[in-house]
Amino acid sequence: MRFYDDDVWLSAEEAVARVRNIYCVGRNYRDHATELGNAVPTEPMLFGKWTHAMVPCGGELRLPKGRTNIHHELELVLWLQRPYEPGTEWTEYVGGIALGLDLTDRDAQSRLKAAGQPWEDAKSFRGSGVVTDFYPVVDWAALLDTPFALEKNGAVVQEGRAAEMVFPFAQLLHHVGSRYGFGPGDLLFTGTPAGVGPLFPGDALRLLVDGDLWGTCTVSQEA
Ligand code: ZN
Repeated sequence: MRFYDDDVWLSAEEAVARVRNIYCVGRNYRDHATELGNAVPTEPMLFGKWTHAMVPCGGELRLPKGRTNIHHELELVLWLQRPYEPGTEWTEYVGGIALGLDLTDRDAQSRLKAAGQPWEDAKSFRGSGVVTDFYPVVDWAALLDTPFALEKNGAVVQEGRAAEMVFPFAQLLHHVGSRYGFGPGDLLFTGTPAGVGPLFPGDALRLLVDGDLWGTCTVSQEA
């Protein structure tokens, strides 16, 4: 059975206009952590994006000028609709789910990691946070085993299932909420499966959930 109701709960445009904090989880799929030569973390690894990073998925995806190694990271993204409060059933925090791209300037990230500096320049440039429309989840168990995928120029380059996450939704929400707090309008990018790679002008992207098209865009770059 399909895990979501296909009436859009919140459009990508509305989400971008209303977003507050943007939490992102690093290395939450074993095969992705290891493809970049990183250890699998023993507790969730969090970083953030600034709100101006966010853009809706649709039409043109414009990369900033001068960045030549921007990677796609396809992720499930949760829209949070109520404040963290211990004892709450975790599913009640989530208003809707989208697919997103946590775009990453891999050269900048490698440079910053080597220098021991914060990641924002690699993770929070304009247009680095892409989201599709958000849909209500009607069956969380079904979601766990439903494949989501990114197609680049007609070929599947990333595919994952939430069941493969190192830290599941409940644990991520508890971790973020208990340490930082969260509330309505916050987003949680839940990590990317293996297959990250560079984007080039002209690339045609399709974001899919179990074969259903949730978003599409074409890459361009500021001259
Ligand atoms: Zn990511």
